[in-house]
Formats: sequence, structure tokens, C-alpha cells
Amino acid sequence: MDSHYWATELWRITLFVFLAIVAGSISGQWLISITIISISYSVWLLYKLNNLNQWLKSKSYRKNSPDNSGIWERIETQIRNINRTSDKNKKRTNKLLKRFQGIVKGLPYATIILNENNEIEWANEKALSYLNIDISKDRGQRIDNLLRSPEAVKIVNKKRNQEIEISLPHNNERRLAVQYVPVQKDLKLVLARDISDRINVQQMRKNFISNASHELRTPLTVISGYLEMMADDENLPGHLKSAVKHSSIQSARMKDIIEDMLTLSRLEKSELDEESCSNVDVASILNSICNDEIKITSSNSHRLITDIDNRLHLLGVESEIVSVCSNLIQNAIKHTPSETEIRVSWKQQDNGNACLSIDDNGPGIPDEHIGNLTQRFYRVDKGRSRDQGGTGLGLAIVQHIIQRHGGELEISSIINKGSTFSAVFPADKVVDINK
Ligand code: ADP
Repeated sequence: MDSHYWATELWRITLFVFLAIVAGSISGQWLISITIISISYSVWLLYKLNNLNQWLKSKSYRKNSPDNSGIWERIETQIRNINRTSDKNKKRTNKLLKRFQGIVKGLPYATIILNENNEIEWANEKALSYLNIDISKDRGQRIDNLLRSPEAVKIVNKKRNQEIEISLPHNNERRLAVQYVPVQKDLKLVLARDISDRINVQQMRKNFISNASHELRTPLTVISGYLEMMADDENLPGHLKSAVKHSSIQSARMKDIIEDMLTLSRLEKSELDEESCSNVDVASILNSICNDEIKITSSNSHRLITDIDNRLHLLGVESEIVSVCSNLIQNAIKHTPSETEIRVSWKQQDNGNACLSIDDNGPGIPDEHIGNLTQRFYRVDKGRSRDQGGTGLGLAIVQHIIQRHGGELEISSIINKGSTFSAVFPADKVVDINK
């Protein structure tokens, strides 16, 4: 209780006052006596302060304490309590720090902590085996001076949360996914994980699909051939006619799926070959597809409106560009009801990019499906797509082709308003024939 300390202090003051009264009444010099006693009290206070200061300065102040009483003892106890709390906090922080370092050490990721200048502050052991970054030597170095991959340097300098795939610096067969994560202005993370196994499994899956499609193609061609022959045979018994007709339709569907699967495999296997690229007249491709579609679809069906820049050509593989255009236009017709208005536009944007946009005012696509549309065999309405002869591979093929040409497929849709599928090609692939 503080009153106990103040009581001792009051006793001391009373003693000094008593001494002043005694000295004053004996000497008759009241002013001098009070002054001397007051100075003595002040000197005593200074002495105590000095003791406290020496005690705090001494290295052993946590263990020993000066011989004190009254309010001085109280001050000393308070200081001791503050120290004890701060020691406890320090221990807790150290324990937390050790736990955190243990966790980061044990992570299957290479983890590098950077400051605001992208200088390395800390890195775990995986950073050495994956990226050759040794914290005992490289602390304080800029990460972009140490990373060997130009793509990795690019993402670090872009200062955006982004992930890229690179090869291990000393082993081209292993692949890493490197992610740059800006946490705060002065705290950034570079994370890298080994994704070679995932890529190998993907590759095995792709090879399997490609081989299976090749193997199925020939027997299916034979079966389709015989079915066609039987369908044309006038002597075919009546009860078999419908079975043969249905079998023909299904084998034609299977052929379409296998052809699409082979197209996808071919696109995945090879990079775009510059030599097979030519100056593609996109406008005439679009005009010819639209004219064909108008002839095929009945007059009360879809309305096709075109807004096409004839001067705008594209550097690319003609057959692949034809596939993008026809897939997107046919999708807009297949997946919307009759009387839907479809706008086909091919124009250059202000930034020099060229954009092919197929816009319909059909029923639209619910938001949750949009991100999945380019996955193989993904359909919003499976039954309807099959009835329309869809393979579910069209948009996967379209996206691959656009990306091979350096572009992006953008999809947006609003329920009851319609959908827009845009293929945006970079300015360096655009050829303006008037220039
Ligand atoms: P499909 O062979 O079924 O057309 P795609 O890969 O081309 O396969 O398209 C995937 C799915 O995307 C379609 O099944 C359909 O549900 C949806 N889709 C594509 N284009 C449109 C569109 N213009 N309007 C509404 N849905 C569309």
C-alpha cells in the first residue's frame, strides 16, 4: 500500500521540521535555522537520487537493491516490476520469433524477406537450394542482382503480387513457381516452390490424351465409313434404319471430339512458329464466316451485324485465326435463342492492340461459370451443348490460339443482357495495310 511509504516520508519531514524548531528556539535565529535544515533536507534528497541513479546504472541492478525506505523503496519496487514485465515480454517475443523462424525454415517453399529497396533481409535454407541465395553471404544484396532468370527479375520490379514459372538455375529439368508478394511498403516476400512433379503429371495427362486420340481416330473412321455405307443401303431392313442413323450421328460427334482433342494436343505441344505466320486478312475471314452462317441459319434466326475494319491485318497462323473466328461466332449462334442480335467487330484500340469482339444480347452466362468456360469439356448446360453438336473444347482451343499469338481472351456477361467474347491481340502483331 502506498500510504505505508508516505507515512515513513511524513515522519522524515516531521523530524526535519522538529529539528528546525529546536535549532530556532535555542539560537533565536529562526530564518537561518529553517534555511540550514531545508538545505540539509534537499542535500539528503539529492543523495538519495544519486544512489538511485548509481543503482540503475550498475549492471547488477536487477539483483541488488540500495538500502532504501519510504517513497524511495516504492520507486525501486516499481522499477523492478517494470523490468520484470519487460523481461517477460522479451522472452515471449524471442520465443515467438524462434517459432516463426522454425515454421518458415520448415516450409516446403523458398522464402526470402526483402526490404523496400528489394534488399535481402532474411532467407531460409530452401532459398539456397532453389534460387542459390545464401543468407550468410547475400544479406543486404538486391534480389534482382542475384536472380538469374530475367522473368523473375521482371516480376520483382513490377512490384505487384504475381506468379511465374521458371527453371531451377542449376537444373533445367526442374520447374519453380516464383511468387512476389508485397506485404507492406518495407516488407516484401519472394516465395518459390518446386512444381516439377505437377508439371510432369500434367505432361503425362496431355501425352495420354494425345495418344488415346490418335489410337481412336483410325477405328472410328472405319466404323463411320461402314455406318455411312449401311445408311445409304436401300436394302437395309426398316427396323435397323433408325439405329444406323443414330449410330452415324454419335460416331460423327465422337469424330468431332477426337479432332478437337488432337487440335488441342498439337497446340499444347508446339510454340508458335514464326515461319508459319503470315499476314492474315481477318476482315475477309469474318465476312466469309458471317455470310456462310447467314446462309445456314434460317431467316428468322439470329441477326448478324458487322463492324469490321478491312485495313486491319494480323500477323499469325491463318488456319488458327479462322478457328478462333468461327468458334466464337458459332458459339454465339449455338448458345443463344433465335432472334438474338450478334455484333461482330474487328477494330484497333487506342493503344494499338487489335480486338475481335463477338457480342450477343442473349440470356448471358451466370458469373460463377465465366472463369471455367475455357476448361476442357466445361459447359454451362451440358445437355443443350450436346444437342447443338458442341464438343466442350471450343473455348479451350480458342484461348490456346489467342495466347500463342501473344493475346488474351476476355469474357464478360450479364444475365438477360448478353455476353461478350473478345480476343485482344498485341500491337506488335497488328498490320495496317494502309501504312
Ligand atoms: P461447346 O462445344 O459446348 O460450345 P465451348 O468450349 O465452345 O464448348 O463453350 C463452352 C461453354 O460456354 C458452352 O457449352 C456454353 O455453355 C458457354 N458459351 C460459350 N459461348 C457462349 C455464348 N455466346 N453465350 C452463352 N454461353 C456461351
